[in-house]
Amino acid sequence: MTGEAHWGAWSHAQPEAATAPALLDPDEASAFAMVNPEGRANALLVCDHASNRVPRRLAGLGLTGDLLQRHIAWDPGAAAVARGLAVRLDAPLILGGYSRLAIDLNRPLASPELIPEQSDGVSIPGNLGLTAAERSARIAGLFLPYHRAIARWLDAHPDPGLRLISLHSFTPTLAGLSRPWPVGLAYGRDARLAGLLRQALARHGDLLIGDNQPYAIEDEYDFTLPTHGERRGIAHVMIEIRQDGIAAPAQVAAWVERLAQAYEGVGKASRGGGELGLAG
Ligand SMILES: [Zn+2]
Repeated sequence: MTGEAHWGAWSHAQPEAATAPALLDPDEASAFAMVNPEGRANALLVCDHASNRVPRRLAGLGLTGDLLQRHIAWDPGAAAVARGLAVRLDAPLILGGYSRLAIDLNRPLASPELIPEQSDGVSIPGNLGLTAAERSARIAGLFLPYHRAIARWLDAHPDPGLRLISLHSFTPTLAGLSRPWPVGLAYGRDARLAGLLRQALARHGDLLIGDNQPYAIEDEYDFTLPTHGERRGIAHVMIEIRQDGIAAPAQVAAWVERLAQAYEGVGKASRGGGELGLAG
């Protein structure tokens, strides 16, 4: 499927978004950030949950205290790792500009978690009882611009050897359960890149690597990689790092280097052995 046909499948399904009221004021940050768009690496990096910023008009979603600093609002550390990798690999990177509580960029439009009414036991007052116009404003103002940016970059850089890498972080404990993996690799029906990356990461010492843990890629819950990776036939993987491993700059730097070396190992594997079945 071409990028345009593919894009149409979801963007044109939101006709009301075209007339939605503005969500962002002109002086507010963009719905996405594009870093190093002409980077020479054969990979596009994306970071859905990079920011905990909330549009001014949403008045902090009614949350008090430090709730917007917590993992429910974003993936702490993920943007720092993504930006570090963009530099280290000379890769383009697209980051979401606003909190997942305003709208979750990695949820299908039909998902009840798209604009969550609660997260990890915390009620989100600003998301309760939204009108259709309010929902459309979130979709038009935040969701579509981010995914349109990814789609347009991919349309403009056709390359059968391209990889799409999504960077996330996860909280060490959720709902009373601790997560033992310092890092997890997630995939759906296309496990090519995850498999190669797992092999490459394993070469760098004793590392408990989550295999579709703590999360897998599922059509019901995920949007970014099924849409921009799988449906375009682009090899893809979600890399999830446990947040206590990237809380300090030195930790971030260590993970950037570890992931970069693993990625370079994958590059060698695909060029030499053609395991990805892709050119270049
Ligand atoms: Zn995330």
